[in-house]
Amino acid sequence: MEHNPIVTAIQTTEISGWGGYPRCAAQVIKPSSRQDLQKHLAQTNSLIARGMGRSYGDSANASTLLESTYWDHFIAFDQHSGRLTVEAGVRLRDILMITISHGWFLPVTPGTSFVTVGGAIASDVHGKNHHHAGTFGQYVLSMEVLLGSGEFVRTSPAEHSELFHATCGGMGLTGVILTATLQLIRIPSAFIHQKTIKANSLEEACDAFEVNQESTYSVAWIDCLARGKNLGRSILMLGEHADHGSYDLVIKDPIQIPIHTPAALLNGLSMRLFNEAYWLKAREVNKQTVPLVPYFYPLDAIGGWNKLYGGAGFVQYQFVIPKSQGVSGLRLILEKIAQTGLGSFLAVLKQFGPANQNLLSFPMDGYTLALDFKMTPNIISVLHALDDMVVGMGGRIYLTKDAVMREHSFKASYPQWQEFEEVRHRFGAIGKFASTQSKRLGLA
Ligand SMILES: Cc1cc2nc3c(=O)[nH]c(=O)nc-3n(C[C@H](O)[C@H](O)[C@H](O)COP(=O)(O)OP(=O)(O)OC[C@H]3O[C@@H](n4cnc5c(N)ncnc54)[C@H](O)[C@@H]3O)c2cc1C
Repeated sequence: MEHNPIVTAIQTTEISGWGGYPRCAAQVIKPSSRQDLQKHLAQTNSLIARGMGRSYGDSANASTLLESTYWDHFIAFDQHSGRLTVEAGVRLRDILMITISHGWFLPVTPGTSFVTVGGAIASDVHGKNHHHAGTFGQYVLSMEVLLGSGEFVRTSPAEHSELFHATCGGMGLTGVILTATLQLIRIPSAFIHQKTIKANSLEEACDAFEVNQESTYSVAWIDCLARGKNLGRSILMLGEHADHGSYDLVIKDPIQIPIHTPAALLNGLSMRLFNEAYWLKAREVNKQTVPLVPYFYPLDAIGGWNKLYGGAGFVQYQFVIPKSQGVSGLRLILEKIAQTGLGSFLAVLKQFGPANQNLLSFPMDGYTLALDFKMTPNIISVLHALDDMVVGMGGRIYLTKDAVMREHSFKASYPQWQEFEEVRHRFGAIGKFASTQSKRLGLA
């Protein structure tokens, strides 16, 4: 990580996560070398690393930020074993551009490729294959972390394992990830066999997930504005890597949304029309072979789509509830959302496999639903009421999406938070790494 010119860029600006809420003024530091990074760490009371700012809430908000996109070098790629070592500011998109032509792909990928490796590790992100593959952190062979003391430490499941399991999913609160070695997976082509299935209700959707357990990738779009017997009607999308086809990547430049649109454009009527049209357009069962990039990252085709929600922004609310709460738990939450009159343009349902060892990792064996809500004056109290339902069912809210959760909900639903704090204490992170979110959630 040595860059030219050897000058640190420092800028004061207003920042927010992808949802545009909350916003804060921040001094953004772009260090030019490791020494520079150490110097800033020593001089600053408390800061947090920031990647592409694709987390929705305030996990990458703080009055001082270390922007990692400056550290974007590829260090090593072994084409035989699929081991890749990169600096933490490398974006997943950059990785795909290099590795796919050699037949290697990310074992776990979120729904956007515009995230950094550091951000993907810190959020321990999941994809459409959690039920088979687990999370991103499970494919990190080792990483290098800058501790609060200014020391660089190598950590892996075998070396300083407690630091490793606190850093994967640790939301930047244990230190700054500088480099990571990842294990990629072999793929036979850059295409996906996609099968879509229409489910007329929530029960049918969950049954379809169960019946298609063997499917490598699965995700459902839910019409969360449908009511009564149609509540939770969904389109389930299954995917398998196609055996035949080239490794040519089909990547188009995103269409840009240049400015914030008036929030009134996204109202109950437009959402209902969109959902109805999307539902009607889908066929009962449909099979096609599609290029990998638009399959995994459909939203990447529209740059700045978050601006469609207007200047006040939006909140993405993603929760998981255990399988034991089943469909009836999901139904109760969807009914509550319907009662409040909140509409969500996008609602995505996935199934999760078992939780892993990472202390603040989000997934657990169950169903996860993600909904986008436009920011309105009453939204926070509604989300707090939903939090109570989710936590009461033994579930939790995804930290990388969260902007409003209260301390008691966090501590009740992430039972290893005290162990997490102990590891932070041992590795000198307390008082050095903090975000607006970590303060709200009562972390030291
Ligand atoms: C369209 C869209 C789709 C998405 N789909 C999914 C999905 O399917 N599954 C999923 O799990 N997530 C999903 N996400 C969320 C996204 O993957 C995560 O929020 C990810 O962490 C963002 O990475 P980033 O580089 O933008 O990190 P940022 O948003 O900048 O930061 C996120 C967290 O990572 C920490 N961090 C960043 N870099 C470092 C570093 N170098 N060292 C230490 N900590 C660091 C920050 O402090 C912060 O706590 C989606 C987001 C969007 C916008």
